[in-house]
Amino acid sequence: MRERALGYYIDFYIYPVVLAGFPIYAALNGQRGALAPWAIAAVAGLALWTLVEYFIHRVLFHKVAFFRRLHDAHHKNPKALIDSPIWTSLTIVFAVVLAPSVWLLGAHLGAGFTFGMTLGYFIYSITHHAMHFWSFSHDSYFYRAKHRHALHHYSEVDGNFGVTTPIWDYVFGTALPEPQLAKQRQAQSG
Ligand SMILES: [Zn+2]
Ligand SMILES: [Zn+2]
Repeated sequence: MRERALGYYIDFYIYPVVLAGFPIYAALNGQRGALAPWAIAAVAGLALWTLVEYFIHRVLFHKVAFFRRLHDAHHKNPKALIDSPIWTSLTIVFAVVLAPSVWLLGAHLGAGFTFGMTLGYFIYSITHHAMHFWSFSHDSYFYRAKHRHALHHYSEVDGNFGVTTPIWDYVFGTALPEPQLAKQRQAQSG
């Protein structure tokens, strides 16, 4: 959804506050020895986020008509301030992630898991913003990540759906070849 600058940038200020609440809550309410399981739950949440991110982008944003329309606007105009409004993403954090994971894992681990997933979403938001608005030196990891995402935007073939990590594109066979590499391969086979 296209937003005013405040609606777009407010995520970058509110999410750190929301995220900080989770470890503070855990530190104040956790018993001795409870920190390690909390951290493991958080890492699991973060790892699962990367897979969720991949499928949200590949399936929801590219295949489901309603989301596809919104996402197409981003593809056509990558610098437009388009994201999900903070009230929708926060509702999802609390209703779709926190509530079921507390029910399944208990308050302590469920909160750790939710912290990991939410941190993943926050990293994704900043990374995706950086890919369209920031410049990086040519030998940096971020330059390659930006280039990978540019291929997603401008290649005629669908692929490179992962924003924070290319891992799932390799796992599911959707990693796009680098244009130079593709040309070299064609020259070798032709
Ligand atoms: Zn896309
Ligand atoms: Zn993009």
